Amino acid sequence: MASVSVRGVSKLFGSFKALDDISIEFADGGFYGLLGPSGSGKTTLLRLIAGFDFPDSGEIEIGGEPVGALPAEKRDIGMMFQSYALFPNMSVFDNVAFGLMVRNTARAEIVRRVGEALELVRLTGLDDRKPHQLSGGQRQRVALARAIVFHPRVLLLDEPLSALDKALRVGMQVELKRIQREIGITTIFVTHDQEEALTLSDRIGVLRDGRLVQEGAPKEIYDRPESAFAATFLGDANLFRGRANGDGVVLADGSRMRTADAPGKADEEVVCAVRPERIEVVPADGPADGEGNMLDATVSEAIFAGNSMTYLASWQDQTVKVIAQNRGAEPFEAGARVRLVWRPADTVVVTP
Ligand code: ATP
Repeated sequence: MASVSVRGVSKLFGSFKALDDISIEFADGGFYGLLGPSGSGKTTLLRLIAGFDFPDSGEIEIGGEPVGALPAEKRDIGMMFQSYALFPNMSVFDNVAFGLMVRNTARAEIVRRVGEALELVRLTGLDDRKPHQLSGGQRQRVALARAIVFHPRVLLLDEPLSALDKALRVGMQVELKRIQREIGITTIFVTHDQEEALTLSDRIGVLRDGRLVQEGAPKEIYDRPESAFAATFLGDANLFRGRANGDGVVLADGSRMRTADAPGKADEEVVCAVRPERIEVVPADGPADGEGNMLDATVSEAIFAGNSMTYLASWQDQTVKVIAQNRGAEPFEAGARVRLVWRPADTVVVTP
């Protein structure tokens, strides 16, 4: 197994900068998610690590060794892409064995390794089937077995589950995580599905316009986003604009909001992010908590979702979203005057 280091990497297509000075460390044995909107550079970064393409500047190391211009087949990397074409006329066994055959591996070794890989992806006994005799999830497993059969040092996955329907995808997420843990392989996967990134990854890198905007553990990024972009791309967030003032922010209507961290230079324009589930809705005449943040608002929509209630509340010219757990109390109805309250610790100062 091996770590992967990306240092100051940029990639140009003509004059277009697809990757702009990216530095990120993928530790040995970790499961990393690269998350970002379409066109942010996720696949480009994966292709550079794989050796299908080369950076214009910066350096990539695998297992502590600079890979420079080393071609893909010499990098010892397993890969699985969204379009993981299996050979349609070959059996499951031969599809998985293919990479070993072209490496001139001895027959007995091939049989052993393919058996091992098929057991790992729970396809033992289906060796003789052809791809068209398999379900979508089973085909995905064959592709995964093919990627890991030669014991690569690093596994790269580009939207590996996006072709599967929701139920299969969730099942495969659990499988992928189990397999990654069992073989302890450094895994980097690309997704634009934030939920997938949050559930699978040990760490997440968020990309935007070819730049790495934040890197950290899922909970760290969720609880402490550094930018309005990260806050809204990874989960839902209410953004409040104001001016820095002591240990808080003064909003447009003159009300004060205390923040988790000092908001910056006095009078500077700042943005605060607050997660919908951290806000509590109480009656308009409810007791004011001197320590907490609060806004008086009007419920514009109350949406019942079984275990939770989603409220959209109007405050100033802004809609504030609140997700409240259903604890059996009568919900507030549209038109109700309410007070929204939350802790300063849940008020995160982010860059606009
Ligand atoms: P998606 O989620 O849609 O797959 P992505 O984040 O993986 O997007 P990339 O495929 O890395 O994005 O592309 C990043 C940018 O680089 C895009 O604007 C894309 O159009 C551009 N790009 C990628 N490959 C090439 C190429 N070979 N020639 C020119 N431009 C390219």
